[in-house]
Amino acid sequence: MDLRKHARLSLRFLETATNPKMGDLPYFWIDFARNPPELVHCMVFDDVENLGRWLYAIAAAQAVSGTDGAETTRRAMLREIDLRRTGPYGLVYTSEYSPQFCRGFTEHHSWLWADRSILQGWILSYRFARDGGERARLRERIDAMVAGLNEFAVRIGPCVFFPSLAPAKSFRKRDDYILPHDEPAGTWNALYGWAEPADPRGLPHLSDSVGGMIAPLVEWYELSGNETAMELAAGVSRTIVDFHAVKGCLTNPVGCFSNNHGVLNAVTGVLAANRHVPERRHLLWAKTLWEFYVARCASSFGWAPENETVDYTHPLERPSCEGCATVDMVRAGLELARAGFVESWDVVERFTRNYMTQAQIQREVEPFSLNGVALNDVSRLGIECEPEALRDRKDVWRRCVGALAGWGAPNDVLDPRGRFAMCVQNCCSGHLPLGLLNVWDQAVTREPDGVRVNLLFDHDNADCTVSDSQPAEGRLEVRMKRKGTVRVRIPDWVPDGAVRLEVDGRGIGTAWEPRPSRYVCANDVPAGCTATVLYPLRERTLTERLGGELYTTRWKGDTVVGIDPGGRFIPVFGGGT
Ligand SMILES: [Zn+2]
Repeated sequence: MDLRKHARLSLRFLETATNPKMGDLPYFWIDFARNPPELVHCMVFDDVENLGRWLYAIAAAQAVSGTDGAETTRRAMLREIDLRRTGPYGLVYTSEYSPQFCRGFTEHHSWLWADRSILQGWILSYRFARDGGERARLRERIDAMVAGLNEFAVRIGPCVFFPSLAPAKSFRKRDDYILPHDEPAGTWNALYGWAEPADPRGLPHLSDSVGGMIAPLVEWYELSGNETAMELAAGVSRTIVDFHAVKGCLTNPVGCFSNNHGVLNAVTGVLAANRHVPERRHLLWAKTLWEFYVARCASSFGWAPENETVDYTHPLERPSCEGCATVDMVRAGLELARAGFVESWDVVERFTRNYMTQAQIQREVEPFSLNGVALNDVSRLGIECEPEALRDRKDVWRRCVGALAGWGAPNDVLDPRGRFAMCVQNCCSGHLPLGLLNVWDQAVTREPDGVRVNLLFDHDNADCTVSDSQPAEGRLEVRMKRKGTVRVRIPDWVPDGAVRLEVDGRGIGTAWEPRPSRYVCANDVPAGCTATVLYPLRERTLTERLGGELYTTRWKGDTVVGIDPGGRFIPVFGGGT
């Protein structure tokens, strides 16, 4: 399993799925219900939010792949974002393209969910910038946004909260903002203007805009030492957890303040903040929610519906995935593993090996016909009404390579009965590289006396080169570049007695770390020598009901090698068992 291959595929997509006639804006949709398929703008996202997505996606994919692919596009994103820094608080504002004007806004405004993406994009560009001038410019922008958020923030006791929207002109910070859980849903929507439906259970939206800010704020604190960023991250974490506690969601664990992507993004952030400002209550809250999503929403291989309940789904629609939710389950799982819940490594490994990477389009799509296929056309009205000028039909069968399933079925990147039938939402294509980077960063970690291999993926760093052989063989090789102890996590399904360890082909005793750890150790492996872990691959089949249909997967080790029924349009896992 080589994450670098998937990062290169992402770069290929990110470079080609933009519109040079309109400032290189990314395309939010790929519509395979049209023949030929089309890249289509959804300006609610493409005007600002997707610029941030593309920026963090390209920076992350460049870092994982070790290339500077799509660099021209990354620079275009930076340029377009700068053109929209037109209002107060260091935030980024809608341009004249924005259809949000049609929704009752008469002024440019800033949508915090877009600022979240831009903050993440600036931070990763800063982290990997080789040019001192670019680093300085980015630092100035990031610090300005953090300072602006600090001024813009509403504080109640130790809690911090951001309104979702900031008008650019004549904006006057209100003194009478109240926390969202004190408001009925209707008031909330009227106050902040975002045209989401009120939660059908009568709960207000805490919104992904608020929770999504936590993780990048923590990352900025870690990179720059900006303490305001950390103070805001900890305060927003308290708001999120308190909101849930008020609603009794700790005993009845449901996300309910956003779609799955939004909730899991917030869970990731709360766990990241907890590394610096530990609150056991927050840790347990995040663990409980993550376990709920893994056990009750996701499949065994990481397919996860866009929403945790069917409340948002039209009766004619089948729950379809959002690739972003899979990515965020992986990101939150990584944070839980770092917090000491070692069993989450196994889930991270399974989801990463399978849906997160295998639902990425990996080769040019063979043109197919939709003759006789019944499409759910409830939500398609949204895409059908986009004007001709926002559509691009050129060579989309080829340009779609590298995109990640956005409304996909468990066995197929496309779902004719999913929300937005036969479409991909490219927020997911942009979010995948962030997941790849987070996995890459944690897969192999440095220890004072050697290396720790947490995830059995191919890897290369200054200490060692790791080579994986699944699903062909249960074999992991760690070639050391400097002398050190090698620790390797053994999957939860391997019997202890079946693990063998070799150094340069000679068997050594298998030493285990104390439980609950599942790591074996080879001590003091000399530079230039290779420690090899050998283990038998478990073979099994699993049947589960997903989105109302039964699917049977065939596994070798942690890899799904077949699914039945197989996909029909852009199959995931190579088809039938
Ligand atoms: Zn998405």
